Amino acid sequence: MRNQLFKAVSIIFIIVTLIMLYFSSLYNYLLFHTIAEIFSICIAFTVFLISWNSMRYIENNYLKLIGIAYFFIAFIDLFHTMSYKGMQIFKDYDYYANQLWIAARYFESIILLISFIFVKSKMKVNPYALFAICTVITTLILSSIFVWKIFPECFVDGVGLTPFKIYSEYTICLILFAAIIILKNNKSYFEGIVYRYLLLSMVCTIISELAFTIYIDNYGFSNLVGHYFKIFSFYLIYKTIIVKGIQEPYDFIFREMKQKEQELLERNDVLKAQATIDALTGLYNHRYIYERLAEEAKRYSRSNCQFVVMLLDIDYFKRINDTYGHLIGDKILKELSKILKEGTRQTDLVGRYGGEEFLVMLVDTNLNEGFKVAEKIRRVIELYEFVNKIHLTISIGIEEYNGEKISELLNKADKKLYAAKESGRNKTIK
Ligand code: GH3
Ligand code: MG
Ligand code: MG
Repeated sequence: MRNQLFKAVSIIFIIVTLIMLYFSSLYNYLLFHTIAEIFSICIAFTVFLISWNSMRYIENNYLKLIGIAYFFIAFIDLFHTMSYKGMQIFKDYDYYANQLWIAARYFESIILLISFIFVKSKMKVNPYALFAICTVITTLILSSIFVWKIFPECFVDGVGLTPFKIYSEYTICLILFAAIIILKNNKSYFEGIVYRYLLLSMVCTIISELAFTIYIDNYGFSNLVGHYFKIFSFYLIYKTIIVKGIQEPYDFIFREMKQKEQELLERNDVLKAQATIDALTGLYNHRYIYERLAEEAKRYSRSNCQFVVMLLDIDYFKRINDTYGHLIGDKILKELSKILKEGTRQTDLVGRYGGEEFLVMLVDTNLNEGFKVAEKIRRVIELYEFVNKIHLTISIGIEEYNGEKISELLNKADKKLYAAKESGRNKTIK
């Protein structure tokens, strides 16, 4: 919504500017011409600056070439503006404006055409080399007009445009027409909006050129139309470079960042799980058990939430390993883990304390309630048929938390477990 409003305001601003530009032509045509040319020169310099600084993002060689060439087109156009009839900057050079115009347009159209040679090439365009080549060409053009004076005449006072100028405008139109056809044939290299901008820019240049073929006066109406369309065509090149040099790279970078962030989050989850979960049984590991017990101890001191811990140890597990092998032993540990999970609540904590020793923390539970749970689990295991029809028993030591250190609590539970073992195994001692 805000975007649309911004777009609408921009369009109104552009229209008002163009209308004011028209009124400036009524007041003084030279004023109009100067402003109009400076508009397009500024746009062309901007095109150059953006493309020069985003060379590494612009993959399309065609756009790289024209991005740099527009600097020189603007440079020649600047001379054209300064030598325009009435400017009186270059003494006696009033009519060189037409030659400079034609030279700039030849340069522009030829660049728009021949840059297609490189569109398919994977070759990396060297911007410095390109800049140097364009500098040489521009120097030659300016010298042929200002120094050697060998550039054909374009305008004769009292007579009007010379045939060279008129045929040149048609030739430029033809070159641009050829560029349009090649652009259409290479559509796949200019996806979506970029293609449309380029096409429209070339069409605007053709219209601009056609307007210049019919003008008789340097200050006439068709001259005005020609300059308007020149501005449009430059603006469209600018839009192309903005899309390729700024918008798409940014979109790409942000997309990449989002993706990387997502990957990091996922990786983080995996790492977190790895750091807290025991790989064999999927139960919480020793480290995490300690953390959770410490948290629960805090809850106890804050709001007196009771909890008990059970330490469980498989009886004569060594024998099982020795008889059936370690792999079967592992399977049993997994099966037993499942029974423990199923025999407790979601809010309770079941962890693998050590080899074949488990710890269960029962929250909001006192010693007697905990004892009942422990006995139930013990009996379930006693009756359970494990893999290979193995039967086994467990011994349990259970202790209620009373505000002591966690290590003390565990010590007490361990002692009771030991007592259970000592007094015959397969029992719970509270
Ligand atoms: P009791 O506890 O009743 O005194 O006898 P026990 O045979 O279980 O005694 P002990 O604690 O000495 O032996 C524990 C055995 O558990 C030793 C070891 O082979 C086995 N064990 C520990 N961790 C694993 C494991 O990850 N996989 C398998 N298969 N066995 C394990
Ligand atoms: Mg044991
Ligand atoms: Mg043991």
